[in-house]
Amino acid sequence: MGVANENSAAWGIAKQAHNLGAKLAFTYQIPAFEKRLIPLAKTVETDILIPCDVSQKTSTRTAMEKLSKHWTEIDFVVHAVGFSDKNELRGAYYNTSRENFKKTMLISAFSFTELAKSSLPIMSNGGSLLTLSYLGGVRTTPNYNVMGVAKAALEASIRYLAVDLGKHNIRVNGLSAGPMKTLAGAAISGARGIFRHSENNAPLGRNPDIYEVGKAGCYLISDLSSGVTGEIHYVDGGFNNVGVAASNV
Ligand code: NAD
Repeated sequence: MGVANENSAAWGIAKQAHNLGAKLAFTYQIPAFEKRLIPLAKTVETDILIPCDVSQKTSTRTAMEKLSKHWTEIDFVVHAVGFSDKNELRGAYYNTSRENFKKTMLISAFSFTELAKSSLPIMSNGGSLLTLSYLGGVRTTPNYNVMGVAKAALEASIRYLAVDLGKHNIRVNGLSAGPMKTLAGAAISGARGIFRHSENNAPLGRNPDIYEVGKAGCYLISDLSSGVTGEIHYVDGGFNNVGVAASNV
């Protein structure tokens, strides 16, 4: 879930999963995204494209019911979905409106919980759920604002869902990615400056690309991580480990 175009984090994960032999299906938010998705999906040998606007009630359940017409069981689900009004991804956090707080939380955090519930019937042999987070959920980063609060809720949800679903042999993990140049990334005011700062101060001297996020994502959605659940795994060139950056001394 969450391929808007070939720059999307979800696309990096899909490409790597395809390289490793996974069979894939995609959801799309709106019909305009379906048009873009058709040729991409072809390159990873699937034509299973299912609408799912997570802001709509029962959308994840309906999507999983549609998917179950193609496959009776699935092994993993990737949730790479987030939204907030870009006018509120700037300036002071306290200016967040009630409406946008609710919408951001619903789409960016609660949808993962709903998705987990909707996935249960089609994961009776166990499986793996993965969502995407960002450092702004555990530390402050400029202008991330309500999105950071939603990521904090998302990361807490990962831990609760890991406990709930462990008995079904379903693992639940998060991948916290460094800045990537995507549609969602560009919505944050000053995104370029944040991108450069992370690049300049990460131990690896660069931000991850979507395919590196994809490789780590494949570890988390496959048996390679069979003993791992409730975890947030950073793919950010090591940026989250830096206290005082060497470049500032
Ligand atoms: P993107 O714009 O390519 O993907 C965002 C996706 O969210 C789109 O496919 C969009 O259709 C989907 N979406 C938004 N509202 C939706 C709704 N109501 N219903 C269904 N889908 C909806 O951007 P991206 O950067 O690939 O974002 C994917 C995830 O990665 C997000 O959770 C984002 O917060 C996270 N992330 C991004 C970065 C970054 O720097 N770009 C860093 C860390 C984490």
